[in-house]
Amino acid sequence: MQITRLRLLGFKSFVEPTELLVEPGLTGVVGPNGCGKSNLLEALRWAMGETSYKSMRGAAMDDVIFAGAQDRPGRNSAEVTLFIDNSARKAPAEFNDDDVLEVTRRIEREAGSAYKVNGRDVRARDIRLLFEDAATGARSPALVQQGRIGEIVNSAPQERRRVLEDAAGIAGLHSRRHEAELR
Ligand code: ATP
Ligand code: MG
Repeated sequence: MQITRLRLLGFKSFVEPTELLVEPGLTGVVGPNGCGKSNLLEALRWAMGETSYKSMRGAAMDDVIFAGAQDRPGRNSAEVTLFIDNSARKAPAEFNDDDVLEVTRRIEREAGSAYKVNGRDVRARDIRLLFEDAATGARSPALVQQGRIGEIVNSAPQERRRVLEDAAGIAGLHSRRHEAELR
């Protein structure tokens, strides 16, 4: 599975509909301070199920919605869609009928957020497993945030093991085992 495109609408500073092509070999984003580089990475993580608004530099989940600027009013919703190439049919069974998966997360002010895959309502859990099985996700070591390298170098063995397990694509198995143990 490969993410090929990111579409934002009303997410943080991206008030105009914006599309980013994620082409093979893309490893970083450069641009002037404040142009929205970190916001792009946060949009990617948010669509993959990030639940911590703090880790997206907000004080509440609604802070991902465009809050307005001098010359334009804020919005009441935000939406991010990830386009995934599934032509190799590596997605979990319930999503594995299509060549392209469009994963959308949408938030309405004061009403929370919801997910869809190819137009069908899905649970946050399904999204988490979809990405964990593909060795990526909102907390994936594939997305290197500022300060993260230092954190990993200085982390306790347990935490470092979790990073390696995420990278190996077995985090989804742990999630399923954890759920099974709770039943
Ligand atoms: P740097 O090079 O400093 O790391 P950057 O390119 O990573 O900058 P971001 O942090 O992605 O920039 O973008 C910051 C901009 O996004 C700021 O101008 C901030 O006001 C704007 N912003 C963040 N959240 C919102 C929001 N909810 N509504 C409108 N604008 C927002
Ligand atoms: Mg930044």
